[in-house]
Amino acid sequence: MNSIENVLNSDRLPSLPEIALQIVEIARSPEPDLREVTLAIQCDPALSAQFLKISNSILFGFGNKTVDIAGAISKLGLNMVQSVALGFYLKPSKSQGKAWDCLLQKYWWRSLAQACAAEEFGMMIDKPNASKYFLGGLLQDIGILAILRTNESTYAETIASCDRPDFLKIEREAVGFDHVEVGVGLFDKWGIDPELTKSIGLHHDPISEKQQKNESNIRVAMRTASLFADKLFSKVPGNRFYPRASQLEFEMLLKNRFKFDTSTEDDLFKNVERRIAETSGGFSIKIGDVPSSEELLLAASEMLSQLAVKSMMNPSLDDQSLRDPMTGLFNRRKLDEAEMVRIDHMDSVGVLFIDVDRFKAINDKFGHQSGDDAICLVAHTLKQAVRDNDVIVRYGGDEFVVILKNVSDEVLAIVADRIAMQLEKSCENKSFQSRITLSIGGVCEELLKIESVRYNHIKKLIEKADQAMYEAKRGGGNRIRYAAPQVS
Ligand code: GH3
Ligand code: MG
Repeated sequence: MNSIENVLNSDRLPSLPEIALQIVEIARSPEPDLREVTLAIQCDPALSAQFLKISNSILFGFGNKTVDIAGAISKLGLNMVQSVALGFYLKPSKSQGKAWDCLLQKYWWRSLAQACAAEEFGMMIDKPNASKYFLGGLLQDIGILAILRTNESTYAETIASCDRPDFLKIEREAVGFDHVEVGVGLFDKWGIDPELTKSIGLHHDPISEKQQKNESNIRVAMRTASLFADKLFSKVPGNRFYPRASQLEFEMLLKNRFKFDTSTEDDLFKNVERRIAETSGGFSIKIGDVPSSEELLLAASEMLSQLAVKSMMNPSLDDQSLRDPMTGLFNRRKLDEAEMVRIDHMDSVGVLFIDVDRFKAINDKFGHQSGDDAICLVAHTLKQAVRDNDVIVRYGGDEFVVILKNVSDEVLAIVADRIAMQLEKSCENKSFQSRITLSIGGVCEELLKIESVRYNHIKKLIEKADQAMYEAKRGGGNRIRYAAPQVS
């Protein structure tokens, strides 16, 4: 009898070996230790070889060849290390004939298209985390591979309907559950980022125009990437017609969240097709052609990993000149007009202005190094307390600005309280010499729709939050004050 547990616990599944699990686990910890990742990778000679091969081929393009794993990891970052490890272990199983190859080939092309599209969306709305979007797109249909491996005879037939809009229902009737449930089960088991897991679980659920404002960037990107892949594959001869409802939803999401409209939609397809072609060019594969040999399938999975690494190595992805080297947070340049225009996919904005109380005394009493440690502890607390796509800036010595996208007054207050509480806990946990407290000023407002004035609007909100922070200081510090909205 089939059950979802059977699939999740089957050893024929793409069950991740201990090493990949360890890498995911380390990446999840609040302070990931890159040395541990290096040790884990070095435990598997095949993975080490793959990792060096991929990183060298990519780093080579940047005139930056690396020969050791530790160096490669620190250059590539943890998201990419996860993509490489997962891509490596999830490669297709041994060929079982032409039909099997075709199925897997289709699966990998779809995953690749989704990954490239999701990354493209990430680049538009959440640049520093674009690699996470790639990872999500790459793995959001992993449940298909999982069921295929464990229920091969029944499922091989079912999957022929994968282009139908009621595919989930067909799957449930055939095997008792669907690939989305299995994917979420696997992600939970592997301990992948919960926000990503949640979004992947919903990628077949449509998003209405009204809902889209309140949905997270990653949820919208995963759904849109899925619609994108459907559309791309509907162009392949013999595939199904792309439903009108999907087209309308796709256009609405592109326009409202990603700044594409019907006139620029083609650009998106061209960009993604170019990225896919980049990876497949060496093998003379065109989208729609069916490379049938197992060798090509393996090459495709290797290419997926390479592409993941490449996205991380794109220097424009995470411009170091916008970073404060001590904390890794953005520096004040992130608030320049050119940068703010790029991160403005928001309808409302909350701003927190944060200043450490009596910071000079920490320097004077315990030394400059303790002062630095205190700043890093505050930075770490801020990273933990806000969402990945909010913007945290080290504004000056002991001053920080956080820009929270699409939040209400209530949520802003919850986040500000959380920051203060978590800092108190961190000081205790780390037995920091002295208690660190913050004065926090906040303001929250609907954002003006006209783009050219948005930047000035956000600047004024930062000033307002700064004034509110001074109110908090005047009240004796260690408190939060809010400014009235309505910036004229
Ligand atoms: P208040 O409660 O009014 O905010 O008092 P404060 O002592 O925090 O005053 P102020 O904000 O003026 O002090 C900031 C000090 O932070 C001044 C500067 O010497 C110190 N500082 C700035 N950057 C750094 C840094 O990177 N490391 C260390 N250790 N100290 C820094
Ligand atoms: Mg201060």
